[in-house]
Amino acid sequence: MGGQVKQYDVAVVGAGMAGIAAAVQSAREGKKTVLLEKTVLPGGLATTGLIYIYLPLCDGNGHQLAFGLTEELLRKSIVYGPGDIPNWQKGQNAPEVKRFRVAFSPASFMLALTELLRENGVDIWYDTLVIGAEKAEGKVKSVFVENESGRIEIQAKCFIDASGTGILARRAGIPGWDKEPNYLSIWALQYDKRLENSENFDLSPSLRMNVMGVPRDESKAPEETVYRGISGKQVTDFVVKGHAMLLDYYKRNWQEGNMDRKTLFPVHLPAMLQYRKIFAIKSMRDLQTDENNLRFEDSIGLIGDWRKSGPAWEIPYRSLCPADGTGAFLAAGRCIGSLGDAWEVTRVIPTAALTGQVAGVAASMSVETETDPCRLDPTKIQERLRGLGFPLHLPEVGLSYKA
Ligand SMILES: Cc1cc2nc3c(=O)[nH]c(=O)nc-3n(C[C@H](O)[C@H](O)[C@H](O)COP(=O)(O)OP(=O)(O)OC[C@H]3O[C@@H](n4cnc5c(N)ncnc54)[C@H](O)[C@@H]3O)c2cc1C
Repeated sequence: MGGQVKQYDVAVVGAGMAGIAAAVQSAREGKKTVLLEKTVLPGGLATTGLIYIYLPLCDGNGHQLAFGLTEELLRKSIVYGPGDIPNWQKGQNAPEVKRFRVAFSPASFMLALTELLRENGVDIWYDTLVIGAEKAEGKVKSVFVENESGRIEIQAKCFIDASGTGILARRAGIPGWDKEPNYLSIWALQYDKRLENSENFDLSPSLRMNVMGVPRDESKAPEETVYRGISGKQVTDFVVKGHAMLLDYYKRNWQEGNMDRKTLFPVHLPAMLQYRKIFAIKSMRDLQTDENNLRFEDSIGLIGDWRKSGPAWEIPYRSLCPADGTGAFLAAGRCIGSLGDAWEVTRVIPTAALTGQVAGVAASMSVETETDPCRLDPTKIQERLRGLGFPLHLPEVGLSYKA
């Protein structure tokens, strides 16, 4: 494509939870790391998308499963106010609010993330859209970006797709899954006078604001509420329908209740698409429905089921690696190989942070050893992860496998 060329050890696409964890880890390992982000804010869906709940790091029965940057980021999400970590250890079949999770102010978290990226020397490029990728000899060689400086080619020894949409994989021709049901709901920031004296919400009551969600219309058939996010038109339709749904909600409340435009009104809308699932790579080992409490020899960490207490999952390293063997590439966050109910469990903030950090470790090892990330010896990656305090198999945290 011509134009300027920049070189890095590791290039990460997307500054959501996965991309930030990946870039911070890679930079901590001494690699020259660039983080490419199309918006002008860090955090992705979690912050720009107003998804303000950092789901649990525990299994709901008192066992902490995720550590490392996954925990560091959870703690950072509230450091500049106002959330608190609940007293979760005592929970046995704990309800969600009593698990090791927090609700955070998206803006506070963004400021903390900016600080984290700066402290770790990550080279972040905002307002920079990844538009293409080039492969040579079976490896990703470059990504192409557009920003105010024009079109730039970024060359790196290893690339991490943490875009949430699989944009790098798709532009590089790496096969993936994109047919999972994805329903329309919308979370927005609103003023609600009824909450004025209430402590029942996690954001500061003094701001008298509330992040609210308008759920999907359960009366509609599933096929009418299934949305895909891999074409320009699909994306625009999703946004337009979401806004219409929100407007219906306000009109209904103003007509039916005793609320009016001064006591209940929208304050801020999500500036990122609130799609749950868009694209997952076809990986060397896609996680499948009901594969909780299963041992994977190449496990790179543990996560719980955010919906209920009990189930716990080992995540195989191979789920970050493309099945077609494309070199110099890893997936992290919402794009890892995960299907069906496994995708539902893994498509959330803690898993994004966990897989991001692991991708950062593996990318760094790939640069050091000049070996494609997917050909690295998983036991060597595991050694490094143990050094970072990760338990890798369920018995290490006192849990057992399925019979
Ligand atoms: C309605 C809804 C409710 C949810 N509720 C919860 C919840 O309560 N708790 C929870 O833990 N999870 C929840 N999730 C899921 C969670 O928010 C996300 O899965 C998680 O934040 C994803 O992180 P990520 O880093 O993988 O991707 P993302 O957050 O999507 O980050 C990807 C980043 O890549 C950037 N990007 C994309 N394309 C390009 C490009 N071409 N060039 C440059 N940059 C690009 C984006 O701007 C973004 O910053 C919810 C999701 C939705 C939609």
